[in-house]
Amino acid sequence: APASLELEAISKVYGVTRAIDEINAQVPAGEVTVIVGPSGAGKTTLLRIISGLDTPTTGRVLFDGSPIKGVPDGLAMVFQDYSRSLFPWMRVEDNVAFPLRRGVEKAERRRRVLEALQAVGLEGKERLYPWQMSGGMQQRVAIARALACHPRLLVMDEPYASVDAQTRAELEDLLLEIQTRLNVTVLVVTHDIDESVYLADNIIVMSKAPSTVQEVIRVGLARP
Ligand code: ADP
Ligand code: ADP
Repeated sequence: APASLELEAISKVYGVTRAIDEINAQVPAGEVTVIVGPSGAGKTTLLRIISGLDTPTTGRVLFDGSPIKGVPDGLAMVFQDYSRSLFPWMRVEDNVAFPLRRGVEKAERRRRVLEALQAVGLEGKERLYPWQMSGGMQQRVAIARALACHPRLLVMDEPYASVDAQTRAELEDLLLEIQTRLNVTVLVVTHDIDESVYLADNIIVMSKAPSTVQEVIRVGLARP
């Protein structure tokens, strides 16, 4: 089942810099929530806290109602820079299988790799190396690697920042299709307001320092 998040009064202070200040917001299960804000608003800081990679100075994150300790089980991430997140010396199939290398037996791993590649429209590409693919295809591989974990919450940090406009539009539609078909909660961080309006069921708007949530907008548009 898709996971929910609650952000309770989260603040992060670096020395004298208050990166984020008392953020309260909800990420409802089974919906697409977008965090949008200008550079320096604290998006990356908040994302690292939500993902369990960093701890807040004060406040807490609830994953399905329980406070997180480290990276929550059931959370998978996709980063902006696919060229750094994929291993260039590994074939696509091995890149996608990488997070499953422990604890998932070989035949099941194979099944999940093919299923995830199919979900992103890359069936038949499993023997290629990342450098033989376009940027958009590499980002699909990165998404497939996250999906192979059967996440309940998919977190994406500026996922389309490194691709051209056409590819970006294709990947945005792919994400909405995946979200509906696999019934996963999706959290996307972007500085692009158009992208946030296109993708989101809910938008969390962060303002420039002192970064507190200005508004949480429920978009509530029926998507096709
Ligand atoms: P965004 O991702 O929205 O651009 P960041 O989370 O990267 O925002 O940064 C928010 C604020 O916190 C900025 O003022 C930034 O300079 C500061 N900041 C972020 N990370 C650190 C850090 N590790 N040490 C000191 N200041 C930081
Ligand atoms: P299971 O324990 O059987 O994997 P899940 O709830 O994870 O149960 O998935 C149910 C079915 O939905 C899977 O058998 C699979 O066909 C499909 N599915 C779930 N997650 C994904 C995913 N991330 N990518 C592709 N298909 C998926």
